[in-house]
Formats: sequence, C-alpha cells, structure tokens
Amino acid sequence: MKINYERLVKEAIAALDSYYGRNKDTKYIYASAVLTDKGNIYTASNYDSDTASLTLHAEQAALSHAACHRDARVVAIAMVGKEDPEGKKLCHPCGICKQLIWENSLRSGLPIKVVMSNLKGKYKVKEIKQLVPSPWPD
Ligand SMILES: [Zn+2]
Repeated sequence: MKINYERLVKEAIAALDSYYGRNKDTKYIYASAVLTDKGNIYTASNYDSDTASLTLHAEQAALSHAACHRDARVVAIAMVGKEDPEGKKLCHPCGICKQLIWENSLRSGLPIKVVMSNLKGKYKVKEIKQLVPSPWPD
C-alpha cells in the first residue's frame, strides 16, 4: 500500500480542532491520524482530564477510534502538537503510546509507520520496531 504521508499529517493537523479539555489556550494540544489497511483514516485529539493522569493521549484516542469502527489494522499513525508553533521540532509518541502502537503491530503483523510531524507539515517516518528496540511482548 502506497502511503500518502502528507495527507495523513494534514488530517492530524486538522484534528487539533477536536481537542477536548478545559483549557483551549494550552499549548499541550496534540492530535493523531491513523491509516488502516482498508485505506480509512481515523483522527483524534487528546481528551484531557482535570486529574492530568487520566488524560487520553491523541494516539490512544485515534487507535481506539479505529477499533470502534472495527478497522484496527493500522499501517501508519501520525502525531502532531501545538507545543512548537515555529515547527523547529517534530512531535514524537510518548512511551505509553509507543507501547500501544507496538502491540497493534504485533497483533496485525503489519509494520506500522510512525509519522512524527509538526504544524508546518514537516515529518519523518520510522517503523514502530525502530522506536521500541526491546519490546514487550515480542
Ligand atoms: Zn502518548
């Protein structure tokens, strides 16, 4: 499957508008777009809790969004954040999200491409296996 990374990043950026939380002015707004092997894209933003520890990360919400549609065979996942409006850095998945992406890849047998991007549309792609060098389970 030829992956249109630019489109996936664009969809992630557009999903920043779906942020759910009290503080709409925070720079800690993230979004994610998941591409499945059926060619569908599912997006989500972080779903904030006042407790902070109960906040759902954008990648978690996007993976769950795909699963809700019984379409969880993920081939690529993009992430972006508002932390760096100048676009000097790329948004990377945190450890928890890397674990969830890894487990999805393990279940499907598909080598998921992780598309780390920024608000300027810049991105780099790595396979989840590269980001989780000593995975559990393996
Ligand atoms: Zn995360």
